[in-house]
Formats: sequence, structure tokens, C-alpha cells
Amino acid sequence: MKVKVGINGYGTIGKRAASAIQRMDDMEVVGVTKTKPSYEARLAIKEGFPLYAAAQENVAEFEKEEIKLAGTLTDLIPKCDVIVDATPSGIGAMYKPIYEKAGVKAIFQGGEEHGISGISFNAFANYQEAWGAQFVRVVSCNTTGLVRTLFPIDRVFGIEKAFAALVRRGADPGDKKGSALNAIEPSLKLPTHHGIDVQTIMPWLPIRTMAVVTPTTMMHVHCVTVELRKKATENDILSVWDNVPRIRFVSGKHGIKSSAQIMELARDLGRPRGDFMEIIVWQDGIKVEGNTLYYYQAIHQESDIVPEIVDCVRSMMKIETDPMRSIRKTDKAMGIGK
Ligand code: NAD
Repeated sequence: MKVKVGINGYGTIGKRAASAIQRMDDMEVVGVTKTKPSYEARLAIKEGFPLYAAAQENVAEFEKEEIKLAGTLTDLIPKCDVIVDATPSGIGAMYKPIYEKAGVKAIFQGGEEHGISGISFNAFANYQEAWGAQFVRVVSCNTTGLVRTLFPIDRVFGIEKAFAALVRRGADPGDKKGSALNAIEPSLKLPTHHGIDVQTIMPWLPIRTMAVVTPTTMMHVHCVTVELRKKATENDILSVWDNVPRIRFVSGKHGIKSSAQIMELARDLGRPRGDFMEIIVWQDGIKVEGNTLYYYQAIHQESDIVPEIVDCVRSMMKIETDPMRSIRKTDKAMGIGK
């Protein structure tokens, strides 16, 4: 029997999570919610997902547009083993008591606080922590990126301390809200929350971060500095990353010099929605001097967390004990690979 998943909030993350879950043979989407009869509501129907209004007060708007609903969220919840809550930041916390009352499991996103579940998730780093849990938070796109590269480095060489400067995209491509059109805005509250969020998964890691928001929609870029405990060469570091999932190398020498070319590569590879779910590391943009490692990585904010959501479902539903088997299964079905 397939695990039954409902998506509350069929937006940037919700629609990608729905497509990913639908590609798996051990889980299925039993419904998605929308607040308005937008193009995404029509997309959900076209994709074959039963469409539910997020709340009773939204129903009239759908009826006016003659969009057929399967009910409201209240009707969807009892049909689900797990809800993927992909509502905007902070809204998930409002839904938690509803999920709690219904006794349904829920996966929250990085826009919520760690305290919403007490478990923050990355499949390679802490798959077991979500085992059988009722509530888990899949960390944000930036935290996922930092954990994907830092966790394996820490395991093999040990990290004395780490620092990352985050160059953040101002908005997602489909958004009309976001950063100024022609300005770079530093996050003035220091250190930024990103490093602290990494510690929800790697509490032992001394990491600090700073961030600036820039007028681009194409990816975040991180400039990372790591003090290593054991000596390593650039090749040693690349070989560690080459042997773990969801990290992909690109090379400036081959013409990939910016986030724009990474996104072009995703489209050239025929990736669904032009997404890049791996963390992208410039293999010719890495340097070790003494014990200090420097590297750049790029994060496709709209999609890197999507395979993590799939693995999180498996851990919470206890359907796969081995994290690597779950990761490989997800990646194969999603066409993610080196
Ligand atoms: P989004 O705005 O693209 O999508 C949110 C969806 O929820 C929309 O369909 C919206 O209509 C719906 N919604 C709004 N209010 C609702 C309500 N009260 N009940 C039900 N549905 C409601 O947002 P997103 O970018 O997909 O972000 C969702 C979550 O994922 C946030 O926690 C965010 O921080 C996190 N996240 C976003 C990104 C990103 O770059 N977009 C990356 C990683 C994590």
C-alpha cells in the first residue's frame, strides 16, 4: 500500500513536492490545497491531483470560476498519512494544532521555526531522527545546501569552525515581491540565522554566517570558509563530495561561470521545471591553504529541498530503514545523478 500524502499549499515548494511524490512507487498524492482559483489550481487539476480549498471561505471563489473541488482541507486530512505543509513562512505554525487534533503526521518547511517539530531534517545527515515522528521540519534551501557539503567534510576531516557568506536571490522567478530591483541589501542582524539553523542538524558545529540579498532570481551562492582539523588537499575534498549524494560539480573552465549558466545546464539536461536539486560546487573554485578550505556553492532555492521531503516521508512512515537506500530510490526516480 502506498503512503497517502496531502499537500497543503500548492505553491513553489508544494507543487514540486507533489510532482516528486507522484514519481515514487511507495507514496502517492491524494490531494492538494489552494486558497484561490489561480493558474496553479488549474495546474493541479491538469496534473490529476484532487483539488481542495484551503478553507471553507475560499470555496465560493472556486465555484465562481467553475473549478471543481473535492472538498476543503478538513475533508483532505482524514485521507492522508502525512501532510506536506508548504504554506508560506509562519502559516504552518497556525496549522499545527489542526494536524495535531486530527492525529495526522506533518512535514513543515524551513520558513517555520525548529521548535515547531523539534526535529529538523536532512536525509544524509540525520534520516533516523525523523523515524516514526509525527512532526518534522525539512530545513530551508540554504541550510540544506550548507549541511550537504559541510556534514561529509566534518565526518572525514573534522571541522574546527566554519563561516559562510550567503549571496541570496532576491525573489523566486515567479514572484513579484522581493528585493529592490537595483540594490544589494545586507542582513544587519548578525550573525544571520542561517548558521544557527545548520546547528539544528549539526549542533556540535561552530558555524557563523552573514548574508546579502541581491537582485537576481537565479539561485543563492555561498562563499564558504572552513577550518579543518585534519590536513586535506583540494582533491581529497572533491573526492569526499563525489562519494556523497546530491552534490554536483561544475567547472568555470567548461564555461559555467555563474548561476545563470547552471540554470541553463539544468534546462539543457531536461530537468523537470528546469530545476537543479543537487548542490552545485565549482570544482575549480576550491582552495586549501594550510588548514583552511575555501569553496563556492550554488543552491537552487526552489528545488534542493524537494528530494529531502520525499526521504522525510519514508523515515516518518517507517517504510525504509536505510537512509542511503531511500536517497538512491528518490534520486533515481527524480533523475538526479552525477
Ligand atoms: P509560495 O508562496 O510559493 O507557496 C505557498 C502556497 O501556500 C501558495 O500556493 C499559497 O496560495 C498557499 N497558501 C497561502 N496561505 C495559505 C493558507 N492559509 N492555507 C493554505 N495555503 C496557503 O511559498 P513557497 O516559496 O513554496 O514557500 C513555502 C515554504 O517553503 C515556506 O516555509 C518557505 O520558507 C519554504 N521554502 C521556500 C523556498 C523557496 O525558495 N521558495 C525554499 C525552501 C523552503
